[in-house]
Amino acid sequence: MMSQLKCQQHDHEESQILGVCINEKCKNPRPYCIGCKVEFHKGHENDLKQYGQLQSWIDQCLKSYQNLINFQGFILQLSNLLNETMNLLNSQKDQDIDSMGISKLENFIKKLMGLQSIEKEVNFQINNLTNEINTFKSLIKTALNSLSIIDNENLEEKSLKKEQIQIQNIKPLKQDLLVFSEKYRAIQNIQIQNNGKQASGVGYVLCDYLIPKNEETILKFKFVSGFSIALGLCHLEKPIESNYQDKLKSIGHGLYLIQSNSMSYSHLDASINNKSYKKIKIFLESIISLKIQTKQQLLTWIINNEEIFTMKIDTTKDLYPIIDICGVVEIVEDY
Ligand SMILES: [Zn+2]
Ligand SMILES: [Zn+2]
Repeated sequence: MMSQLKCQQHDHEESQILGVCINEKCKNPRPYCIGCKVEFHKGHENDLKQYGQLQSWIDQCLKSYQNLINFQGFILQLSNLLNETMNLLNSQKDQDIDSMGISKLENFIKKLMGLQSIEKEVNFQINNLTNEINTFKSLIKTALNSLSIIDNENLEEKSLKKEQIQIQNIKPLKQDLLVFSEKYRAIQNIQIQNNGKQASGVGYVLCDYLIPKNEETILKFKFVSGFSIALGLCHLEKPIESNYQDKLKSIGHGLYLIQSNSMSYSHLDASINNKSYKKIKIFLESIISLKIQTKQQLLTWIINNEEIFTMKIDTTKDLYPIIDICGVVEIVEDY
């Protein structure tokens, strides 16, 4: 495959771009034509990638970062383990030693001595890991910075498009009102960032956004990273009652969800509750829209512009967006 690009150097007569220079020390423009090759890249010809080889070089560059996905899963699991441990530790504080029998006291003291015996090692490892993780963090930030140089250019293009779309859009949705709820979430396991526009961790999070009763609504989310996502609508009181624990086996649980692993859950309809459908698949980076038609009592999931599933919802009761995430999810603002 040949490049359609023409060289912009004014005395190179719009020669065809042959490839790019990947020499680390080279300060000249990366794309080169036959003229550039002689003028700018003499002496490091071995670092010139022909256009035909470019795609495989790009793939190779990005491939090694696949490890990050596994690593993120590992970190999420660790974070869960830490939560569990800290919850247990906290619960020990409330033990009332005055009311303990002799054998309970014996057990309690043994437990604490067990903790004490590994305390030094735990603290030593925390210090070690904190240093290493800080080093790792600055590496990742470097990767992030070098990527955002490219992405800013994309953003400019996108915002141009956005203006054009908005003119056609008679009634833009106020998606800026949509934020993840600080109050209604699995408090220990879900963090909210970016002014409420991003949620990460493992567990349920709702949005502080009552679904309007007299109009059609579309809400958009992006599955940024992680293992799984389930999203849809819920009747607020049900997840609160169950303290955001899964109780989806039989209907009446208050949720209308589809999950990335193909499951669907309906509060109303046993025939589609806790059932698996091939067409339900949510991949990383997908944009998932919830289309809510209150008059028709319908909720439709649109994944990357394709309607994949519709279910009946009870619109006589209040409804809120709800997400069960293992990873990171964002609210998409492109109204
Ligand atoms: Zn040139
Ligand atoms: Zn060069």
